[in-house]
Amino acid sequence: MQTRNNNNVGKPEKLSLLSRRKFIEVTSLLLVGTALKLNGAGISDDAPEPIIDIHQHTDYLGRKSKYLLTHQRNMGITTTILLPAGRPVISASTHQGISNGLEAKCTGNNVCYRFAKKHSNEFYFGANEVPDLPDAVKEIEKYLKRGAVVIGELKFGVECDSSEMQKIYQLAQHYNVPVLMHWQFEMYNYGFERFHTMLEKYPTVNFIGHAQTWWANIDKDNKDQTVLYPNGKLTPGGLTDRLLGDYPNMFGDLAAGSGFNSLSRDEDHAREFLTRHQDKLLFGSDCTDASGLNPVLCQGTQTIAEIRKLSSTKQIERKLLYENAKKLFRI
Ligand SMILES: [Zn+2]
Ligand SMILES: [Zn+2]
Repeated sequence: MQTRNNNNVGKPEKLSLLSRRKFIEVTSLLLVGTALKLNGAGISDDAPEPIIDIHQHTDYLGRKSKYLLTHQRNMGITTTILLPAGRPVISASTHQGISNGLEAKCTGNNVCYRFAKKHSNEFYFGANEVPDLPDAVKEIEKYLKRGAVVIGELKFGVECDSSEMQKIYQLAQHYNVPVLMHWQFEMYNYGFERFHTMLEKYPTVNFIGHAQTWWANIDKDNKDQTVLYPNGKLTPGGLTDRLLGDYPNMFGDLAAGSGFNSLSRDEDHAREFLTRHQDKLLFGSDCTDASGLNPVLCQGTQTIAEIRKLSSTKQIERKLLYENAKKLFRI
């Protein structure tokens, strides 16, 4: 497996820090949401709207399990999918160990499985492994048999159409679970421009795109792939936009700074984009803060508010925050 230049080695994705204006917008939206659910006595008279968070991690940058639980509840999440890391190894596909723990100290299959079992009303788990380990398929299959609802987060330095990755796609096909991939130029999942060949070869496998390179390429004029968080107005028709439009088995994960940025950088575009791909996009948080109460620190809270703000109808909002994930993960 070819090793790449790791000049964009980082850590988990950056949080988009809110401007003061945005902070006021977000908090007032949250207050509106709260007010609607309260009756005259300040008591909730209906259950909160369910939200599925398709992208969280155990031990994320060392966050303790008890904080993960309260973080998700405070953010208003009713169901969370935990995405495990592969096992820690020193190899080209982990950039000699740099990418172990999804480059953010996240823990693996067994921790996610046990946490989800312990909190089975609120949590599901995925299955993952370093793709080019000889027993990768066996390890992933072990957790699919235990009920994993997704394979991922696949965040490794491998070609997206390598034989190792194709074995994983075949496993997903067999178990009828989606595959979630972190796309980051010259770092994770190489060959984004060729990925359509996999969508064609595995038409019954649902793929979920995530991270910087995935979201940067909604813009038709995105030229410089080394810019991971492009800003400003954009033109529809980028590779990501086309994959979502052309392939029924391609979905998008709005998690992390990159997902948020894809909406906030050009909100006029985003309204159209959310409408156009209303059946293809899914809310995820991927955030590392401990409480889930401070919108300035909590990426997930920011993204929920942005989705609510930019969805043209209530029906679209519900699809993005809940219904699409319920259907896709069959949960
Ligand atoms: Zn993640
Ligand atoms: Zn958060």
